[in-house]
Amino acid sequence: MDQLEEFKEIIKNSDNIVFFGGAGVSTESGIPDFRSKDGLYNQKYDYPPETILSHTFFVNNTKEFYKFYKDKLNAIKYEPNVTHIKLAELEKEGKLKAVVTQNIDGLHQKAGSKNVFELHGSIYRNYCTKCKKFYGPEIIFDDDAKEIPLCPDCGGLIKPDVVLYEEGLDDETITGAIMAIANCDTLIVGGTSLTVYPASGLIRYFRGKNLVLINRDSTPYDNMATLVIHESLGKVFSNI
Ligand SMILES: [Zn+2]
Repeated sequence: MDQLEEFKEIIKNSDNIVFFGGAGVSTESGIPDFRSKDGLYNQKYDYPPETILSHTFFVNNTKEFYKFYKDKLNAIKYEPNVTHIKLAELEKEGKLKAVVTQNIDGLHQKAGSKNVFELHGSIYRNYCTKCKKFYGPEIIFDDDAKEIPLCPDCGGLIKPDVVLYEEGLDDETITGAIMAIANCDTLIVGGTSLTVYPASGLIRYFRGKNLVLINRDSTPYDNMATLVIHESLGKVFSNI
């Protein structure tokens, strides 16, 4: 049986699927990959992106942070691709129980997914660092938004609900992701090389039957997987 047929068969016979996705899920929507050669890290700016996207930089150089953030991380104009759409359909059918993602672009929810664990947060949520009130993306990304967004209620500094360098992951999100992975019977991992924390650690909680890895390049977990497909996610998901 060829790999795509085998993948279809696994999906058909599973009703407790979890999808774990990395940057590769979003690049097929046209969103640049943080770590790829022509991604954010190699584009010219005054500081390297990993410096700008750090907690210290946010606190000390807030204006510069927001200049970069608005310029490079505004993904609200992007649309879900076939992978996001098929995953949302599988959830609707009751087969898929959760999506765990390292992306912050909200595309799974835009495609209709409900149970999404966003390990690194979302550009769609922002909160006042003083009164903790939450705001949507417009307070940052609107054309007439201020250079440094401030809370209309209390004047406090608004921060994106995105995990910056030097910051820890949200406990509730990480626990939810671990529970979903530990309890599923099929784990599909796509668009990640599985070399970066927390992806590498989370996979270890899987105790189910089918581990499916879909990635263009090989990963350190290829030899543990039930099925490995070195192919683009879009090609694989447009086939199911
Ligand atoms: Zn406030």
